[in-house]
Amino acid sequence: MKLSLFYFVVLGGFFFSKAQDNSPNIILMIGDGMGLSQISAGMYANNNQTVLEDFPVIGLSKTQALRNLVTDSAASGTAMACGEKTYNGVIGINQYNKELKSILEICEENGYKTGLIATSTIVHATPASFYANVVSRKKYEEIALQMSMSEVDYFIGGGKNYFINRTDNRNLIKEMETVDVVKNLRAFKKSSADKIGLFTYDNDPPSLNEGRDPILAEYLAATLEKLDNRKKPFFLMVEGSQIDWGGHANDIDYITSEFIEFNNTVGVALNYAKNNPNTLIIVTADHETGGLAIIKGKTQTFEMEASFNTSGHTATMVPVFSYGKSSGLFAGIYQNTQIFHKMKKAIGVN
Ligand code: MG
Ligand code: ZN
Repeated sequence: MKLSLFYFVVLGGFFFSKAQDNSPNIILMIGDGMGLSQISAGMYANNNQTVLEDFPVIGLSKTQALRNLVTDSAASGTAMACGEKTYNGVIGINQYNKELKSILEICEENGYKTGLIATSTIVHATPASFYANVVSRKKYEEIALQMSMSEVDYFIGGGKNYFINRTDNRNLIKEMETVDVVKNLRAFKKSSADKIGLFTYDNDPPSLNEGRDPILAEYLAATLEKLDNRKKPFFLMVEGSQIDWGGHANDIDYITSEFIEFNNTVGVALNYAKNNPNTLIIVTADHETGGLAIIKGKTQTFEMEASFNTSGHTATMVPVFSYGKSSGLFAGIYQNTQIFHKMKKAIGVN
C-alpha cells in the first residue's frame, strides 16, 4: 500500500512535473542588426543612457552562419531559436535537411504559454525562426501557413496579407479558429481569448520616422499582463526588427530612433522581472548591420557623425545582456547556438 502510494507520488511527480512553479519565464529580446555601435549610437541619442546599463551579466555571441562568417537573420535566428548552425536564408532546418524544434516549441511542450512580438511582419525571418521550418525565408505564404498551425498564444506583428491575400486563396485568419485576431491594441487588451493575434499592418510596418506608432513597449506591457494572468511560466520573444533596416539604409537616425523604442521596451521587461524574480531576460542581436562606426560627436548635444562600411551585415560579435533567474549562464564568449542551449538549461530541460 505504502509502496504503491510511493509510485503514485513519484511517477505522478514525473508526469506532472511540467511547468512547475519554479520554471522561469523567459523574455528573449532581439535587436535585429544591433551591434555594439548601434547600442552606442542609440545610447548617445538617448541622452547617453540605456536601460542595458542595469543588466549585470554581459556576454558576446559569435554570429557566423554554417558556411559564411557573415550571417543573415534566418541562419542566426535558427541558431538562437533551435540551437544549430545552418545556411543563410534557411529557417528551422539544419544542414542535413532535418527540421528543428525551437525553444518556443520546447517551452510549449513543458507547459509554457508563449508569445511573439515584432516590428516587422510576423512571418519575417527572426520571428519565423521560432515556429517555422522552411528552406527559404522568402516563402512568406508557407511561413504564414505554419504560423497559423502553430500553438503560439499571443502574437503581434505586421504581414496580415500573407494570411488572407494568398495565391492558394485560403483565409488563414478564418482557419485559425482558436485565435482571436484583433485590429488594435485596445481590442487586444479587451479580448479574453486564450489565444490572441494582432496584425499591426497588412504588409511590412513602416519605420518610426515614417509614422509607425512608437508603442512596442505598450505591446509588450499588454502581452505581459495577459501572460501574467495565465499563471503558467511563459516564453516571449520580442524583436526590434528595424534597427537592421536602418543599418541597411546607412541611416543613423533610423537606427537610433528604432533603438530608443527597443530600449524603452527592454525597460518594460526589466520592470516586470524586478517584480517577478522568477524571470530571465536576454537582450541580444542576430548580427551587426552596416559596419557602423561613430567617428565624430559632441558631448553637449550628442550629435554624431556616422560612417558605414557596408549596406549589408558584418561578422563582428554581438553583445548578450541578461538579467534575473539563471542570467549567470550568459556570461562569456560563445556561439549564438549556445543561447538556445542556455535557455533550455534555464528551464531545466536536457
Ligand atoms: Mg529580423
Ligand atoms: Zn538585415
